[in-house]
Amino acid sequence: MDEFRGYEVKVPSWYELSGHALDRPFYERMRANSARFACAAKFLIPPRDARAFIVKRGQTLRVIEENGPQIGNVAFWNADNPRESFMAARFMSGEGFFVAPYRQLWSDVPWYRPLATCLDDTLQSMPAAGDYYYHLVGTPCSSEFLEMRFGVPRPDNCRENLVRAAEPLGVRESDLCDVVMVHQKSYLDPASGKILLARSGGKPGDYIEFYAEMDLIVGVSACPYGDGSGDPTAVRGDAVRPLRIEVYDSGVEPTKSPTWTDWRPRWTGRWRPPDEAGPSV
Ligand SMILES: [Zn+2]
Repeated sequence: MDEFRGYEVKVPSWYELSGHALDRPFYERMRANSARFACAAKFLIPPRDARAFIVKRGQTLRVIEENGPQIGNVAFWNADNPRESFMAARFMSGEGFFVAPYRQLWSDVPWYRPLATCLDDTLQSMPAAGDYYYHLVGTPCSSEFLEMRFGVPRPDNCRENLVRAAEPLGVRESDLCDVVMVHQKSYLDPASGKILLARSGGKPGDYIEFYAEMDLIVGVSACPYGDGSGDPTAVRGDAVRPLRIEVYDSGVEPTKSPTWTDWRPRWTGRWRPPDEAGPSV
């Protein structure tokens, strides 16, 4: 156990090794000052529903468990070009399977930069080996997945809810890639290498907070899985709860604007932009 704890603390991430480490003292100072953030927006997302909204660069987003444990699927897009979005595989390759403070949400190539940084998390700080983690990254639940798993299609799945909510902001269905499954409790089994999901253990008021590194469109779905207690087709009504969203003005600009790095001159393959207009910043 202690050996694993040491691994978490001492071994730098791939991003740190490659000279892209985040400025941790910058985020630690901001986190220490969070009681002085000014609230810019506050609203509820009903159970089995989603909302999409803008979080400006320098603002923070809190996804709060209003009445107790509730899983949320949270998607992030560049507000100026929603073709750029959070990609779980890029996150996993450098940061891990789970989101925790000081880990950054990366977009895919050709942009390949942090969209947001996790600033705070009241559900966990740094679990030891054998513990469950929260805030798994992956793909949103979909009607296909739910029908395959439970035999019943569900129109209130996170994927469709997120697409419906984000379309008015210029997001296409094909722009929805991966999400952070906030408040999802899970365990990485070292024997099988599989991730096992568990019922969430949050309490009212628990939250995870993200700092926007650029202007973002954020979509949040209150997952029909509720607290993760199992079959969403049979789940008790009180196990699916609303999520509260709060957006804050931190008063702190990102240390450096993560403008797009054009990797193409050093790339030797047949790179093509993802749409006719090509990538934009
Ligand atoms: Zn879901």
